[in-house]
Amino acid sequence: MTPTTQQTRPVCLSDLTQDRLAEYIASLGQPAFRAKQIYKWLHQKLVTDFSAMTDQPKALIEQLQQTCTIASPSIRRKQCSKDGTVKYLLQLADGNCIETVLMRYHYGNSVCVSTQVGCAMGCRFCASTQAGRVRDLTAGEIASEIYTVQRDTGERVSHIVLMGIGEPLHNFNNVMDFLEIISSPGGLNIGMRNISLSTCGLVPKIDELAKRKLQLTLSISLHAPNNKMRSSMMPVNDAYPLEQLIPACRRYQQATGRRISFEYSMVRGVNDSPETARELAHLIRGMGAHVNLIPINPVDGSPYSATDDRNIRRFRDLLEQLGVNATVRRRLGADISAACGQLRREDASQAAKSAMERNQTT
Ligand code: SAH
Repeated sequence: MTPTTQQTRPVCLSDLTQDRLAEYIASLGQPAFRAKQIYKWLHQKLVTDFSAMTDQPKALIEQLQQTCTIASPSIRRKQCSKDGTVKYLLQLADGNCIETVLMRYHYGNSVCVSTQVGCAMGCRFCASTQAGRVRDLTAGEIASEIYTVQRDTGERVSHIVLMGIGEPLHNFNNVMDFLEIISSPGGLNIGMRNISLSTCGLVPKIDELAKRKLQLTLSISLHAPNNKMRSSMMPVNDAYPLEQLIPACRRYQQATGRRISFEYSMVRGVNDSPETARELAHLIRGMGAHVNLIPINPVDGSPYSATDDRNIRRFRDLLEQLGVNATVRRRLGADISAACGQLRREDASQAAKSAMERNQTT
């Protein structure tokens, strides 16, 4: 065996919360104000190159260039909808791709971020999980999704939803670091009340999140009011059935003082009958929770099709009559619609196809 010189992996500075960056910069023998300046360059001025940090000494810049990195994905594909929604396929440093979506609302720009490459949860209607989970995103990679959108559009992002590829609570620590970075006054300073985190229902992690008492909005992907129906759509329900999930939601509301919202994707002939609406109302009555109804976005290889608009409205009216707040979610980007995860899959299968073609010709 040939002896190798020990290579230390570069430190990605984008991943470090303000405290950890301070420790790291101090370990280089630098004064504390340098860490503050560098944090601002990374998370407020959104530079992607150490050489742009013009108030830093040249020697430090050179040292950082040799030993550190900054998360800065490249835009591999971009689809723009007529309504202003933009869907990005971003390529990470290791070649993996994720999706990020910019949505423009009257109250500001909202970005939907991915938290993992792929997903391990296996929901039967979801494109993101079909090839499983490849890896977690780091805190800096998640933040860089927002930074990339902001740099690309020149417009400020004011709201964030953690509803892209991946299960945020399955990447708990990195997501917590990301939330700390993105809401820090030295960074983009996005308020927790402008952030929504969506989960398929990992009960122990919901309890762990409750302990942090963050003022974000927790969304639960419910999609069905009984275990038989929910397990047929979401394998996670076998691990954490409704008799565990709903009490966890109540505990969360108690601990944080924040109302939960439930996501309910409507699938024709599966979860959209009046009987199911009554069962749903019964399940969550008294929680003051909000239900978001969305027609399912059919993905390749899935047996599900969407409930039509009239039946969705009927379902909503019935919930309202039974005392449950419900809205039908406006569909943005319908013309580029690819359900989340489809752009990445499409790209991967194209890459596989061209690799095969290359192999055939060589
Ligand atoms: N893993 C998290 C967040 C990512 S998915 C979660 O499960 O909540 C974001 C939302 O989109 C979830 O409510 C999810 O159930 C829903 N979703 C996934 N695929 C969908 C599809 N094809 N049509 C409609 N909603 C879908």
